[in-house]
Amino acid sequence: MTPIRIAIVGLGKIARDQHIPAIAGTAGLVLAAVASRNATLDGVAHFATLDELLAGAPDIDAVALCTPPQVRRHQAAAALRAGKHVLLEKPPGATLSEIGPLETAADAAGKTLFATWHSRFAPAIESARAFLAGRNIRAVKIEWKEDVRHWHPGQDWIFEAGGLGVFDPGINALSILTRILPRRFFLVRATLAFPANRDSPIAAELDFSDETGLPIRAEFDFLQTGPQIWDIHIETDAGTLSLAGGGARLALDRHVMVDETEGEYAGLYRHFVDLVRRGASDVDLAPLAHVADAFMLGRRTIVAPFTW
Ligand code: NAP
Repeated sequence: MTPIRIAIVGLGKIARDQHIPAIAGTAGLVLAAVASRNATLDGVAHFATLDELLAGAPDIDAVALCTPPQVRRHQAAAALRAGKHVLLEKPPGATLSEIGPLETAADAAGKTLFATWHSRFAPAIESARAFLAGRNIRAVKIEWKEDVRHWHPGQDWIFEAGGLGVFDPGINALSILTRILPRRFFLVRATLAFPANRDSPIAAELDFSDETGLPIRAEFDFLQTGPQIWDIHIETDAGTLSLAGGGARLALDRHVMVDETEGEYAGLYRHFVDLVRRGASDVDLAPLAHVADAFMLGRRTIVAPFTW
C-alpha cells in the first residue's frame, strides 16, 4: 500500500521529541516535508509556512499540526480546503466551537480529522479502563503537578489567552479520566489562580462529580519543584487503582499491573494511519469541554506575577 506522505507544521518541542521519531517508526507513513518559520530538517523538504507548503508540495497527503492551539484552526481549515488529512496536537483548538466547522469540512472533503489526546495512548490506559468497567468507584483524586520552567521553557503562548496555562498539561489528565471512567462526569466547582501579569492560570483546584455523587478532585500546579507528579488514584470496591507517570504505570494497592516505558505517540500514529485507511475521523471534545467549564464556573484568584 502506498505510504501516507505527511508534513509536520511547527518544528517545536513536541514535534522534535515525539512526532519525528514516531512517524519514522510507523509503517505506512513517511515524513515528506516540514513547515517551519525557524528550522529545517536534514533530508526533508522545507517550507516557511503552511500556505507555502500547500502551494509547493501538492503530493502531501496529510499534515500534523504541532503549533500552539491559538493558530491551529486557521491552519487546519486551510489544509482541509487543500484536500489534506489533518492531525491536531492537543488541545484540538483554542475554543470548543471552532472544531465543529473543521469536522464538517473534513466530512465534506472525505478526509480524516484526528483530534489527538496523546495521554490516551499511554501503556496503562486500556488496562485501567477494563478494570474500572462495572466496578463500584468511590472516589477519584488527580494530581498533575509539573515545573513549567523545566517542561515549557520560554513558551509564552501557554500563558497567553487560549494557551490554557496549567490546563495545557492538566487536560491530559482529563483526557485519561474521560477515557477510563465508565460514566460521564461534570464540574461542580473550581478555583483558578492567575498570575497578575498573565492571561492563563498557573494553578487550579477542581471538584467534579457524576450522577451517583462520586467525588472527583483534581489539583493542577505549574510551579511544582522536586518530584514531578502526573498521577490519578481511584478508590474502588476492589482496592485503590493508581495510574502513575502520566499513564505509564498501573497498580492495584501494592500489586503492579503495568509498568512500561512511554509509547504514546507510536500508538497515536498507528491510529491515525488506521483512520486514514478507513476514511474515518476521531474527534472527542470531552476533555476540552471540562476545561471550558472550569473557565466558566471557576472562581479566579490573582497570584504573584510569573517570569521565566
Ligand atoms: P513549542 O515548542 O512552542 O512549539 C510550537 C511550534 O509552533 C513553534 O516552535 C513554532 O514552530 C510554531 N509556532 C509557534 N507560534 C506560532 C505562530 N504564532 N504561528 C505559527 N506557528 C507558530 O510548543 P510545543 O511544546 O511543541 O507544543 C505544541 C503543541 O503540542 C501544544 O498544543 C502542546 O499542548 C502540545 N504538546 C506539547 C507537549 C510538550 O511536552 N511540550 C506534549 C504534548 C503535546 P516553527 O518555529 O517551526 O514555525
